[in-house]
Amino acid sequence: MQGLMMDMPLLISDLIRHADRHHGSAEIVSRTVEGGMHRYTYRQAHARARRLANALKRLGVAPPERVATLGWNGFRHFEIYYAVAGSGAVIHTINPRLFQEQIVYMANHAEDKAVFFDLTFAPLVEKIAPQLKSVRHFVAMTDRAHMPKERVPNLLCYEELLEAESDELDWPSFDERTAACLCYTSGTTGNPKGSLYSHRSTLLHAYGAALPDSFGLMARDVVLPVVPMFHVNAWGIPYSAALTGSKLVFPGPHLDGKSLYELFETEGVTMSAGVPTVWLGVLNYMRENKLRFSTLTRTLIGGSACPPAMIRTLQEDYGVEVRHGWGMTEMSPLGTVSRLKAKHKDLDKEAKYALQNKVGFPIFGVDTRIVNENGEELPRDGKAFGDLQVRGPWVIREYFKGEGGNPLKKDESGQGWFPTGDVVTIDPDGYVQITDRSKDVIKSGGEWISSIHLENIAIAHPGILEAAVIGVQHPKWDERPIVVAVKRPGHEVSKEELLKFYEGKIAKWWMPDDVVFVAELPHTATGKLSKLTLRQQLKDYRLKAER
Ligand code: ADP
Repeated sequence: MQGLMMDMPLLISDLIRHADRHHGSAEIVSRTVEGGMHRYTYRQAHARARRLANALKRLGVAPPERVATLGWNGFRHFEIYYAVAGSGAVIHTINPRLFQEQIVYMANHAEDKAVFFDLTFAPLVEKIAPQLKSVRHFVAMTDRAHMPKERVPNLLCYEELLEAESDELDWPSFDERTAACLCYTSGTTGNPKGSLYSHRSTLLHAYGAALPDSFGLMARDVVLPVVPMFHVNAWGIPYSAALTGSKLVFPGPHLDGKSLYELFETEGVTMSAGVPTVWLGVLNYMRENKLRFSTLTRTLIGGSACPPAMIRTLQEDYGVEVRHGWGMTEMSPLGTVSRLKAKHKDLDKEAKYALQNKVGFPIFGVDTRIVNENGEELPRDGKAFGDLQVRGPWVIREYFKGEGGNPLKKDESGQGWFPTGDVVTIDPDGYVQITDRSKDVIKSGGEWISSIHLENIAIAHPGILEAAVIGVQHPKWDERPIVVAVKRPGHEVSKEELLKFYEGKIAKWWMPDDVVFVAELPHTATGKLSKLTLRQQLKDYRLKAER
């Protein structure tokens, strides 16, 4: 017997329709690329998204064609999100920080038919346009007065496109499993691979991400996603905010500490989200200028390990609750968020921090397990390390165009699990602790040493700004950890001092064998430490024992 409830597909256009109908006057505020602020409401955003959908139709962009963006977080990018997916086409958000060859590769691989770009990226578009074989239209996301001087073929002006259309449009209805958004992984090894989200997966993720133990979004929130809309859809915030009717604040290209701090204050931001490096900038600026937050109450930090020292500083010195989260492009991206449970109410402060430093328990929809190298499941005892596998309705089944074959691993019952490439422990309460990415794990004398754990200790030293721990060859132990660190400006710290700082905090055999100070550490296009590049930079480094 079937249930007798309405059978309505879960479609992205319903999010913006809902926000318009029930939160129509909630604001969307953007710092623009052209300069100055732009403000309007969900109602106006929806009207303009419908105009853009009509323009796409006129341009001949039809489902399931791909429309690419090279854009910052801003209102036009938000309209493109809804217009493209709402029409049944696929929005392909390109990370402009990637190498040019990778961008060209992705646009060709996705067979993008149109490219919408912010003015910042006009020089880039001019350079790559001749190589983008499938692109028929380039659209500058600006008005006539600001059109770029660069020579770009078939160049259109965003505002002119919209002016020429009416906002009359009924969003089409179709199968909720239809593709909606395409995001490529950064491809630290090999070519980037595409994760193709559906309307259904995007909506379920939007619900999951909005839950109280995730972003915890409410209609009275003011949300500023620092995480870019070209990095896994700003972790789904443009969808979750429409779902809950929260006011949105987009920072545009200005992601430095000063600009972000000012925007938090002037717009009354209550909730934010971003990678740890962004918060370094904000905290440094606030420290130097002795500033406080007046409205920000919480932030989700993830994408790479959030240093425990940062969690403590934000909470104790600035009154901002940190939600440490974990996820990946292949998971839309949210998987787990670290919040306390009722049973943890009376734990002492340090025990609470120990839980917060983990990446938390899964959001309903995501299931987790750990396996050893033979694919056998390991216990959830908080001690056994294993490869983390996940499954759920917003977890990838297969990469775009079947790249890399079937990525899933089957369990005994035949169900498929996606191997995340992370090495973790899971405790009996479901809390996941990331030890390493499997390719960063340090194997010493047959045992594993967690580079993340060692990095966190180094960063807790007042003289250290940033640190990476990598394994280097050792004649006896295979590999030993070394710390590569950047000193905090104005602070002196020696190798001996830093190593002393580790004493009593780790097992003796985890003690790094050396410290190398550098002026800066390499980062990936998503702002994470690039250990691959670092290992290349240090390829001539030898431990004393090896020399
Ligand atoms: P890429 O960096 O290749 O673009 P993703 O953005 O999808 O890929 O990154 C996903 C990976 O980032 C995870 O598999 C994990 O290794 C790492 N990661 C994400 N959040 C955290 C976290 N809170 N702590 C440690 N590692 C994290």
